[in-house]
Amino acid sequence: MERVIIIRYSEIFLKGKNKGFFERAFEKNLQRAIQEIDCELIKQSGRYLVQHFDESETDNLIEKLEKVFGVHTLSLAYETSSDMDSIFEAAKLFCHSTGTFKVEGHRGDKKYPLTSIEISRELGAMLLEYHKGGIKVDVHNPSFTIRVDIREHGRALVFGDFIEGANGMPVGTAGKGLLLLSGGIDSPVAGHMMAKRGMNVECLHFHSYPYTNMQAKEKVVDLANILSQYTCGTKLYTISVTHIQEAIHEKCKPELMITLLRRFMYRIAERHALRIGAQCLITGESLGQVASQTIEGMTSSNSVVEKLPVLRPLVGFDKNEIIERSVKMGAYETSILPFEDCCTVFLPDFPAIRPNLETIKREEAKLDVEGLIEEAFSSIEKIEI
Ligand code: ATP
Ligand code: MG
Repeated sequence: MERVIIIRYSEIFLKGKNKGFFERAFEKNLQRAIQEIDCELIKQSGRYLVQHFDESETDNLIEKLEKVFGVHTLSLAYETSSDMDSIFEAAKLFCHSTGTFKVEGHRGDKKYPLTSIEISRELGAMLLEYHKGGIKVDVHNPSFTIRVDIREHGRALVFGDFIEGANGMPVGTAGKGLLLLSGGIDSPVAGHMMAKRGMNVECLHFHSYPYTNMQAKEKVVDLANILSQYTCGTKLYTISVTHIQEAIHEKCKPELMITLLRRFMYRIAERHALRIGAQCLITGESLGQVASQTIEGMTSSNSVVEKLPVLRPLVGFDKNEIIERSVKMGAYETSILPFEDCCTVFLPDFPAIRPNLETIKREEAKLDVEGLIEEAFSSIEKIEI
């Protein structure tokens, strides 16, 4: 008897002509997620099995597999010989001593001497005898279920519950996006959502060193690390915008600081995206959340992006919905650490809420836009996550 993990994938992405493409990406992502653990991943009749691992690694494996997009459900199982005594030995490990239960037998190997119903009945009787008086059969509303799957070559899989997976599409099947990653709550969630739809996500962070400190940068690296568990690795690029903030501060109306800086960020981001082959920008903006996230604010930043779409997966979410997702993906504790990213430096007391494009352009004309962008690119750093 050997402990294994069953991985079932969402069927949706396996329909149609591209099946092989999706499946290869999925398998690669599974392999990558568990690469540091000594184990073997095999494909078996429309699902995957992880086997040959040390039992002490079970939780670790499940935790990693739960984060792979495309995984529908997981089960911890025992692979055993298909005679009823061996099946019973494995089933005991999933059987509670009290409560109601049912057995779901499934005869995958049609040559097996018992039918699915007979397997369920026979194993049910053995378990009832084993926990005599403690457990009862309830096929409609059991408190736990024991499942038996008879495989070929005299083998069987015995398991209990289903663990819900991350669902979604395998990362790497829906192009590549460049995420504008701040140190806040929203942008990591935005990246997570696009990865769930199969997109490869790379990250770009703007900092204002030395106005912001090294801890602020480490925080963003940590966030990229958390995100990378879902995005099957990522790259983090950092670019300094200190000189841009200083130039705006010196020459332009203070209430337009955020608006103008945003436009620089979007310009730089688009150019960088095109260089790395990303097909869109991704931001964590949500309509009306802060002064710069009005539709006018979005229009102002969008209007400097010439070739790529800007995806804002959180645009219709309330803050508490975003927080819920942030907690679930494990980023929240890091996101709320108090280190400032660049936008809080030089913050005006009253930012413009509905910036007018003509005014913005007039203010921007006071700046050497191209020169400032070029200087920003000279500070670029790349971190493999
Ligand atoms: P977040 O929680 O993601 O920081 P926020 O609520 O603080 O968002 P803003 O500061 O207005 O909102 O930023 C809106 C979006 O702009 C962010 O979600 C992010 O995508 C991008 N952004 C903001 N600051 C930076 C930065 N320093 N580097 C990269 N992207 C940024
Ligand atoms: Mg922010």
